[in-house]
Amino acid sequence: MTHTRQHPKGGPQAPATAATGEERELMTGETTTAARRSRCVVLEEFGRPPAVRDLTVDRPPPGGLVVEVRFGGVCGTDAHLQQGKLPISTPVVLGHEGLGVVAELGGEPVTDATGAPLRPGDTVMWASSISCGTCVPCRIHGEPTLCENRTTYGVTIPAGTGPGPAGSWSQYMCLRPGTTVVRLSGGIDPPAAMAFACAGPTMVHALRRRPVRLGETVVVQGSGPVGLAAAALAQLSGAAQVIVVGGPKERLDLAARAGIGDHHLDAVGADGPGPALARALELTGGRGADLVVECSGAPEAVGQGLRLTRRGGAYLIVGQYTDRGDTEVNPHQFVHRQLTVAGSWGFTGAHLAAYVDHLPVLAGRFDLPGLVTSFPLDAAGQALAHVADGSVMKAVLRPS
Ligand SMILES: [Zn+2]
Ligand SMILES: [Zn+2]
Repeated sequence: MTHTRQHPKGGPQAPATAATGEERELMTGETTTAARRSRCVVLEEFGRPPAVRDLTVDRPPPGGLVVEVRFGGVCGTDAHLQQGKLPISTPVVLGHEGLGVVAELGGEPVTDATGAPLRPGDTVMWASSISCGTCVPCRIHGEPTLCENRTTYGVTIPAGTGPGPAGSWSQYMCLRPGTTVVRLSGGIDPPAAMAFACAGPTMVHALRRRPVRLGETVVVQGSGPVGLAAAALAQLSGAAQVIVVGGPKERLDLAARAGIGDHHLDAVGADGPGPALARALELTGGRGADLVVECSGAPEAVGQGLRLTRRGGAYLIVGQYTDRGDTEVNPHQFVHRQLTVAGSWGFTGAHLAAYVDHLPVLAGRFDLPGLVTSFPLDAAGQALAHVADGSVMKAVLRPS
């Protein structure tokens, strides 16, 4: 879920030089004689299924690299992009989360997040965004996720504005200089890593803003990947009880089978949210949870979540990534409950590195591969539809 709302033409990455081979193809349909070609999923028109195109992969620039993508994650945000709910420029090669193998390095040395040199054949994940390091939020506020010029793979880099595909729904992808690249150890199962490829680092960031404390009762609103990442990390952080309020029931059952969450309450079934919210409150002894984490993305969840938080507790809002409009809340709840309320936006490479460090423990305790459904690259439209209607937990594309 690391994406930016800024218009890419305002950023420093906007094209200023002669057209690349890929750009010429998109403009004229002519092809060039480059060494590598890549089949890519390209969003050309909002509201339409994305197209599969064959694009050129040029040599990576110094400090950059080309990866052969093994998994390109499908995020709820991709469905919003396809529906035209975020202001981006098209055409764009989709995919902001991925896992792949280093195919080619642009000069030596190109290093991973720890400063160790990368080598062809290394299995890696990469941060979805690059912050500029020079804007006021980056330099003065120390908040790189709030960078005013953030470049996000699969979102803000229009096709044809670099050496090759800049999204992970592609056989090969070009990572630009400045990308945080995290090497995976041999013991990590790639599908397990992909289960929370975006949701995991998003929640690492959020839980640094308001950590789970030992013995706390935590309510998680939402049972998609972000909600399950919140619940799983809360359990690892020493929460005494984790209550997941979400739906539909199949998603809650899948969470239970994966070992994620202690209680699973259906708030979207025929009975509506009332009984689930009442049961959640009852499970907290009637006082409310120490920490409530909003991961549903539904505006009306916020008014409900305030009333699930105990007096003196904290409400952490993560799910409202897309602006779905205003909602009614009773502001008295903030004061009477003396709440600490925090929002959290996206993640940085540091949060991705922490997620990857946690993976052996996460995958050791929870059935992460069981959350993942794979689709071939050609079925990207189908994968998007399944993500949009919630019928799969985590979709991934397998380009190669
Ligand atoms: Zn995402
Ligand atoms: Zn910046």
